Amino acid sequence: ELDGVTKVDIVMTAEKIERRLIAVGSGKGGVGKSTLSTNLAIAMRALGRKVGMVDADIYGPSQPRLLNCEGQRPEAEGKQLIPVPNEYGIPVLSMGHLAKPGQAIAWRGPMAGKALEQLINAHWGDVEELIVDMPPGTGDVQLSMMQNHKPVGAVIVSTPQDLALMDAVRAVDLFEQAKIPVIGMVENMAGYACPHCGEISDPFGAGGAEAAAKTMNMAFLGRVPLDMDIRKASDGGVPPAATDGGQGQAFHDIAKRLVT
Ligand code: ADP
Repeated sequence: ELDGVTKVDIVMTAEKIERRLIAVGSGKGGVGKSTLSTNLAIAMRALGRKVGMVDADIYGPSQPRLLNCEGQRPEAEGKQLIPVPNEYGIPVLSMGHLAKPGQAIAWRGPMAGKALEQLINAHWGDVEELIVDMPPGTGDVQLSMMQNHKPVGAVIVSTPQDLALMDAVRAVDLFEQAKIPVIGMVENMAGYACPHCGEISDPFGAGGAEAAAKTMNMAFLGRVPLDMDIRKASDGGVPPAATDGGQGQAFHDIAKRLVT
């Protein structure tokens, strides 16, 4: 059942391109899955890969904002969408490009599944790696994504809290059931540097994701600190990984572990 074909490999370009999907998932929302997806894509591009972004978070798309290409509508060639370009060189497709601004996407599973197919089976051209910003949790969209497109691997994001971690364990289980290798775990919002005195505190605890990764026998890919600049820059359409210095380095370090 879960051994679906990797449709994305059969792209409608003349030459066959081995396109690899990397899913970025989390057990719950708000842990930084989209932020990690964007910055990983940019960091992998900096390592010379041709990277595209599928915003599979159908009900809560944020990639148009993060990649600073909000309000653009993708063109189409035949029945295939053409990904939206942006200043970061990461072609992207998102429901955010298809819905009206602020419009709630009130679809049931099958509709959302069809939308996802449109985003993935698009005109990706010479893109080698597609980062898939998954919806949080373990629902319909996640299942059809894994069944139909077989990502080569998944990166799981968690914050250090116990509850978020328990959800992350469920996300890991979902990928494992679908026989998608889990590449490893990233701990986000770990350690907060006080902007006034510089003291590092751990509002959500520390080291939990690393410990959980160890327990589950999977790689720990790195941690990204809780930093106001990450939020400000991200929400302003300037992903930290696209800027020299600052917290962007954490994402470049993680990308190096993914790209061989
Ligand atoms: P998700 O995709 O898991 O729902 P997002 O990536 O949208 O989460 O992040 C949720 C919010 O938290 C965003 O406003 C984002 O800018 C912020 N955020 C994410 N990671 C960090 C971080 N390390 N430090 C500060 N803010 C962060």
